[in-house]
Parts: sequence; structure tokens; C-alpha cells
Amino acid sequence: MKRLLTFVSFASLFLGTAHAQEPKPLFPAEPREIAPGVWFQQVNGSSNCSWIVFDDYVLVIDANFSWVAQALEERIKKTTPKPIRYVFDTHHHGDHAEANPWWASRGAEIVCQDACRAELEQKGAKQWEEMLVKHPEFKAVPFKLPTSSFTKTRVFEDAHHRAELVTFGWAHTKGDAFVWLPKEKIIFTGDACVNGPFNYLGDASTADWISVLDAVGKLPFETLCPGHGPLGGRDTLAEQRSYFVDLRQTVGDMMKQGKSFAEIERSVSLPRYEKWAGRKPATLNIQKVHDELRLAK
Ligand SMILES: [Zn+2]
Repeated sequence: MKRLLTFVSFASLFLGTAHAQEPKPLFPAEPREIAPGVWFQQVNGSSNCSWIVFDDYVLVIDANFSWVAQALEERIKKTTPKPIRYVFDTHHHGDHAEANPWWASRGAEIVCQDACRAELEQKGAKQWEEMLVKHPEFKAVPFKLPTSSFTKTRVFEDAHHRAELVTFGWAHTKGDAFVWLPKEKIIFTGDACVNGPFNYLGDASTADWISVLDAVGKLPFETLCPGHGPLGGRDTLAEQRSYFVDLRQTVGDMMKQGKSFAEIERSVSLPRYEKWAGRKPATLNIQKVHDELRLAK
């Protein structure tokens, strides 16, 4: 329970929400095989996790926090006896990448985009040290950076699966990358697309984010595995894009009317988003868009 509360409080902080949340089970459901050898595990209070079972190895999408990664490894091993040889981070945030050293200690190579690696070079060791304060059971695991990184794309392929790791630029973070499965028409988006009120904009560029979502939308995907929230589809991407378009438009219009930030923050109303999230956009999201538009003048 204590662990779960830690997740929830971290998620509240991380996602910019201040109100108390009921603790939810870490795994709301069993992992789901969404195509032969392709698994999706929704996770509450941390990031989702997916894995692809190749002929000789497993590729895991998003390392997660170490204490979640341990539970994920157990789940993965129930689905396949093949070794977990690669772990890919969709970006550098702790709920996606903190467990890199732990996976490395289990024999996996860690892969991410160049800018994600650069962020981890700056912040990863500190993130790991902070985690050890609460979870000393990982003290024997040495900190490690990703084994390799790529600039535009990296492909994993065998006779049955092809997974393209690909970046389209700065969105949720500078180092966002996606996994695209062209045969199964499945896209794994990390936090560049979430399915619910999970948008954190602390490292984002919302203008570029919209362009990235447009690029993703050109792929003929049918299933979308988001960084947070339940499995989605093309509508999920459209919803995510609309949120940023509407938020930028609304805040921009009010700025043109000469409204102060306090007035804007008070009066922003996005019914479409409120239907989705049950509340108005987080102040931090409004602030981020306001800052971007002010600097773009
Ligand atoms: Zn994130």
C-alpha cells in the first residue's frame, strides 16, 4: 500500500494535479496480446508498458520505475520464455526510464533517441539516487546510461516482426520517439499521446507537438498504445491534437484581447477537454502555452 501511495503522490506531482486520488491497483487488467507476440500492459500511477516477442528475444517499450519494472518482468515472463534483450525508452522521464540500470543489471541493452540520452546524461544519475532513498533494495544495482541511441530511426526485425523506432521531433520532450509496427498497424506513442488527462508540459513544445502528431497521423496505424491511460486508436491521436490546438487558440485569443495571465487562467474553458478530464486544463498547461505564445511574439 505504501508503495502504491508513493505512485499516486508522485503521479499527482508529476501530472500537475493537486487533488487527492483514490489509490488504484497498479495493474487494472492482465496484459493484453493485441497482435501475435505484441503485448500491452496498462499501468496506473506510472507509465504503461508494452513488449514485442521476436523470434529470439523480447523488446520492452518503456523501462518504467524500478519497483514497477520488477513486477512487469514477472508478467512478461508469464507470456514468453525468451530473454528480455532490449528495453526502449520513449523519453527520459522517470516513470518511463528510471529503471534503465535495473533492466541493464538483468542483461538488457537500453535504447533511446539521442536527445533522450542527452537528458539522461544530465538527469539520470540524480533521478536514480533519489529513487534509492525510498527504495534501498536497489542499492546493489550500479547506475547506467542507455547502451545506445539513434538520431532518426532504428529498426528491429526478424521473420515475423518489424519494429521501427522513429522520432518526429520535439513534442512532450526533445527526445520523444515512437515504435511503429507496420505489419500490425500499431503505434506506441509514449507521452506524446496519452489517453486521458495526463498531459505534462514541463519539457514540451506545444507548437512542435502538434506537428509531431500530424506526422504520426500520416502513418496508417489502427491501434494506439498511449503512454498513460487505456488502449486507443486514431480518435485518441485526434483528441490529443485537438487539445493543444484548442488550448493554444483559446489562450492566444485572450492574449490578443489584452487579458492578464490571471484572467486567462481563470476564464479558460475547454468543454471538450473538461468532458475528457472532468476538470479544466491544469494551470501549468495554461502557463506553458502562455509562455510559448508570449515568447513567439
Ligand atoms: Zn513523460
